[in-house]
Amino acid sequence: MDNRLIKLYELLLSYYGEQEWWPANSPYEVMVGAILTQNTAWGNVEMAIARFEGNLNPEFVRDLEMEALKEIIRPSGFFNQKAVYLKSLTSWYSQYNYDASILRQEPMEKIRNELLGVKGIGPETADSILLYAFNFPSFVVDTYTMRLCERYSVCAGKNYNAVKQYFEQIFEPDAALYNNFHALIVTHAKTHCRKTPVCAGCPLEETCVRVGVERVSLT
Ligand code: SF4
Repeated sequence: MDNRLIKLYELLLSYYGEQEWWPANSPYEVMVGAILTQNTAWGNVEMAIARFEGNLNPEFVRDLEMEALKEIIRPSGFFNQKAVYLKSLTSWYSQYNYDASILRQEPMEKIRNELLGVKGIGPETADSILLYAFNFPSFVVDTYTMRLCERYSVCAGKNYNAVKQYFEQIFEPDAALYNNFHALIVTHAKTHCRKTPVCAGCPLEETCVRVGVERVSLT
């Protein structure tokens, strides 16, 4: 049992509170957001989503001409490839009748493997969709997670799957906890543990060994 990781979670939760992710009106909007947020800031995703003018649903995207879709999502950047990804994802979702309750009856690993076969979807996007669109207990790892683990000296692993498995071994499958923990890490990475960290006032300040930032003994 890695008490260090548990301690990290408890400190973040007590400092930032419940995060109540993901800000979206439907599972499909989460799926679209998970694609659009690739390589861009969330503010750009919000701008792109607003340009759907209330029509962000799978039938609308399915029927939209590719060029029109590109134009709508232009603010999210990389819109040429993201439009292709959205079409592919929407096509995949059609086998479940665009119905999250139908999809939710399938085994998580089956859905994960299918998502990883969709153009433009890698592990982070697949797990974001599983967790935040469909409430499956699949922990999401991102660069913020890797950075925090390194600085806080949580030996979770060096690659995506190793870190994901590590978190999922320490914490029993729990979609609500995984949801909140990942969101807490993102919030923390934007507030204190930035690229150049703001350690003063950080809720982890007393227990963090700051690997790569400054070397401080654990004792
Ligand atoms: S003390 Fe500094 S390095 Fe450690 S988690 Fe906080 S901001 Fe990041």
